[in-house]
Amino acid sequence: MSGKRRLIAIFILLAAITAAAAAFAFNAPLRFAVIDRLTRLGTAKLPEKIDVPTYETSVEDLISDPRISFDQSMMLINTDHPLPEGFIADAAEYKETGVIMNPCAVESFGKLSEEIGERFGEKLYVSSAFRSAKEQLEIIGEEGETAQQVGASEHQAGLGIDVYVMYFAGTGFIKSAPGKWINTNCGDYGFIIRYPYFKRSETGIPYEPWHIRYVGLPHSEIIMRNAMTLEGYIDFLDGGGYYGWQSGGKNWAVSRQSGGVLKIPESFISGKISPDNTGGYILTFEIA
Ligand SMILES: [Zn+2]
Repeated sequence: MSGKRRLIAIFILLAAITAAAAAFAFNAPLRFAVIDRLTRLGTAKLPEKIDVPTYETSVEDLISDPRISFDQSMMLINTDHPLPEGFIADAAEYKETGVIMNPCAVESFGKLSEEIGERFGEKLYVSSAFRSAKEQLEIIGEEGETAQQVGASEHQAGLGIDVYVMYFAGTGFIKSAPGKWINTNCGDYGFIIRYPYFKRSETGIPYEPWHIRYVGLPHSEIIMRNAMTLEGYIDFLDGGGYYGWQSGGKNWAVSRQSGGVLKIPESFISGKISPDNTGGYILTFEIA
């Protein structure tokens, strides 16, 4: 290489480094996502298979057990797995605010909202929670391609909640302290960042720092700690057996099962069953 060519090569390299540094400095979502991902790499920990003695039962019999609750918290909703036609979301009003969401998310959203108030003195607003198929259709008309097709939006199940704080909505949410905190810690409150920055190949959706999705504990902790998507997590569970997870002094056993016969731990404190909208059920048990 001649001296002149070498100089040009060095110049191009320096220009590329400067451009990357500028993108990093000025692109708040990217900056947050890179640091967040590096942090999670250090603490990632997947649940491991556990051996629990089980018995076989049917979904109907399981639901009649007073220790068991049935909800829609673990439904995977995307373009590959749209909601079935005629799907009816469980719906509840959040604290007389007029905001409608899936009842399974109400208590946890209250705690998250309270935490934001205490920590930052800020009110956590909801711009959109439950949307009917008709309302989703109207949004598609307004936003075009960025909105999910009817049936493919978590808002139609009241499980996706779009949040903001004063002056920081949409992508700008990640520039606010509450936004950064929620994108880091919502897993402790039963929520996940449903469309993470680097996971568009799995979700089909670009980063949405404002869209939180209720899945409940301990799934939210596992997903957020391992920087997973809901798609990836349901794939991961697809073994049929039980996975163990410990947090907050509780022992959890979780499993994804399909078919009419379910394998249930012989002894458990409480449990939850949710269809996953891919033909299976996600079973969540608190065990001794
Ligand atoms: Zn949303």
